Amino acid sequence: MSFVRQVGMLFARKWIGGVTVPDVIGQARKSNDSGEKVIINYLGEDYFDRSKIKQTIATYSKLLSQMKDEGIEGDIAVKPTQLGLSISYKLFLSNYLRIVKLAGRSHRFVWMDMEDHMFVDDSIRAYLAALGKHGNVGICIQAKLMRSLWDIKRIIKSGGKVRLVKGAYPARKGISYFGKADVDRNYIRCMEYLFKNSKEFMLATHDDKMIELALKLKKKSKSVVLFGMLKGIRGSLARKLALAGERMYIYIPFGPEWLEYSIRRLKELEHSTLIIRSIISD
Ligand SMILES: Cc1cc2nc3c(=O)[nH]c(=O)nc-3n(C[C@H](O)[C@H](O)[C@H](O)COP(=O)(O)OP(=O)(O)OC[C@H]3O[C@@H](n4cnc5c(N)ncnc54)[C@H](O)[C@@H]3O)c2cc1C
Repeated sequence: MSFVRQVGMLFARKWIGGVTVPDVIGQARKSNDSGEKVIINYLGEDYFDRSKIKQTIATYSKLLSQMKDEGIEGDIAVKPTQLGLSISYKLFLSNYLRIVKLAGRSHRFVWMDMEDHMFVDDSIRAYLAALGKHGNVGICIQAKLMRSLWDIKRIIKSGGKVRLVKGAYPARKGISYFGKADVDRNYIRCMEYLFKNSKEFMLATHDDKMIELALKLKKKSKSVVLFGMLKGIRGSLARKLALAGERMYIYIPFGPEWLEYSIRRLKELEHSTLIIRSIISD
């Protein structure tokens, strides 16, 4: 590892679960010990190189068997373009179904992450195809996109499970909400729909306002609500919620492609004070 990457890794350790499967298993154990379950993602996206896709599947297979051997409580998350969606839908679907089957054998759930807007249709299409055959699948939906409530409605109608996020990819004119206020408004609209219509879903956010509202709505609802946060962000709030009996999941990415992921997390921080807070706080 170059010197620059070594220094970068010192900071990135806050957000990533290490480079190897044993590294991430160690981090997952720590979350489990704090009463949190985990969602583990092997970092990588937009692959055109088939050998990288093959290696990704092999890593998920190894990860699933180690999670089982070590008794880790949690699930995995995959990105469509790390399984071949940038090459072809057919390749992606067959790889995705392979992982879903593998995970099903060890009674694990597979979350599909949501990437940039051009992949949304094919991601949902593959998700619904898997849902028809397997029960252990959920999908991420981004409140930043104007279409999302409509997507949630058809996913719920098919019996699917949604993980609602605000969205980490750049907003596009005509299809996305731009300002925080509009994204938040759509997040609330989608959340309220989930509370009324979905038996079980995940709210993946670090936003106090969204969490407070969710806890309020939960009191009047029969839905099972899971909460999700990213490793290294608002860790003490996550532990507090877990301690209070909420179903808290920590999303832990790992793998050699940690630098790109860390840069995305840094870009999300609006002010340098937030960066410092994120690095030094718990
Ligand atoms: C479990 C999980 C899975 C996700 N999966 C996806 C996915 O598949 N696709 C996708 O597009 N996005 C995904 N995301 C990312 C998500 O879309 C947002 O980019 C990210 O969660 C920030 O939005 P927020 O809801 O926390 O609210 P924001 O409005 O961005 O932030 C609210 C507050 O949270 C705190 N905060 C937020 N981010 C940080 C940070 N980096 N460091 C320190 N404090 C911070 C700050 O106090 C901030 O004011 C996921 C997020 C989570 C938690």
